[in-house]
Amino acid sequence: MHDFEALPPVQRTAIAQSSSPQATVSLRRRQSPLAAASHQLAKLEALNLLDTTNCGDFSAVLANHGWNSFQPASLEIFQINIGKLCNMTCRHCHVDAGPDRREVMSKDTMDACLRALDQTTAHTVDVTGGAPELNPHFRYLVDQCFARGKHIIDRCNLTVLLLPTMEDLPAWLAERRVEVVCSLPHYRQRNTDAQRGDGTYEQSVEALRRLNAAGYGQGNPQRRLTLMSNPVGAFLSSGQATLEQEWKAGLLKHHGITFDRLITLNNMPISRYLEWLEESGNLQHYMELLVNSFNPAAIAGLMCRNTLSISWDGRLFDCDFNQMLELECQPTNGKPMTIHNFEMAWLAQRQIATNRHCFGCTAGSGSSCGGAIA
Ligand code: SF4
Ligand code: SF4
Repeated sequence: MHDFEALPPVQRTAIAQSSSPQATVSLRRRQSPLAAASHQLAKLEALNLLDTTNCGDFSAVLANHGWNSFQPASLEIFQINIGKLCNMTCRHCHVDAGPDRREVMSKDTMDACLRALDQTTAHTVDVTGGAPELNPHFRYLVDQCFARGKHIIDRCNLTVLLLPTMEDLPAWLAERRVEVVCSLPHYRQRNTDAQRGDGTYEQSVEALRRLNAAGYGQGNPQRRLTLMSNPVGAFLSSGQATLEQEWKAGLLKHHGITFDRLITLNNMPISRYLEWLEESGNLQHYMELLVNSFNPAAIAGLMCRNTLSISWDGRLFDCDFNQMLELECQPTNGKPMTIHNFEMAWLAQRQIATNRHCFGCTAGSGSSCGGAIA
């Protein structure tokens, strides 16, 4: 296993000494039962959803809308999760990431990802984590994808850019035309700090300034700066286009910051957000809301249909959420498959693994790593 100890000492020190905000500590570190994916799935399964549409059975809802067989469309996006290590510990995190998580992708596994990528027609490589920038081979992976002419996305938590080892990163990413997709719950301080920890907002604003200074967020498609927001509470995201205008005006007026687009996501009822739902007494209500807000127009655009998600240890999933729930892809030839023995032809014919958490992607305007889908 390639772990935290494999990080260069300077990076370990930077994480240990960083003043990155911490809203909580990981489920794993607290030895919470919810750290186990099986426990999360059981918790969702145990809810009584008999009074909701189709009793909360996602496969039945799909079948009712003509999707008896739920298979992927053509592969467009390789989403590589290169580790659970993060400088932050946000309350809503679906990865259960944090500074204590030691799992990071090795260079060997990255090379296997690149060999697999070369077998496909995927045009985009979406690099996520944890904080993907903390993986010691992050820049190697980005360089390799850039050399292949891929569109690259870095899912960045913003505060990581303030670590001493990351000062040159905005300009480095800009040179490689990487789209930076930054999580920011709200353009106002209170909501952001509530979800991600005190001090997050201030650090995020400074990071956005650095990205602007590197040419990001000013309408240049080769320096695209996308902000990603998810609700602070137990409600659905909505009004992406309207919110974008409001955010653009707010950030410009108060901080002189510009960005290119805003995407909104629903919170998925898994991991630390599931814990928050349960502790705050919102779990039953939120699941009913997700199920009753099912929008059939979202099905065709679900990200599991055009994305392959790869975990730090090279396992294959339909999406990052299934990855966190350990619901691995089942290739049609029945042979266990990882990125090391990847065969696109077998994988393309699989059935996508679904469960109750999937209602998070089909509720309201729909939700994906690219924002609203309906
Ligand atoms: S939500 Fe993102 S920034 Fe926050 S702990 Fe999880 S991976 Fe890190
Ligand atoms: S969680 Fe969403 S993206 Fe993942 S399999 Fe379910 S519907 Fe598809």
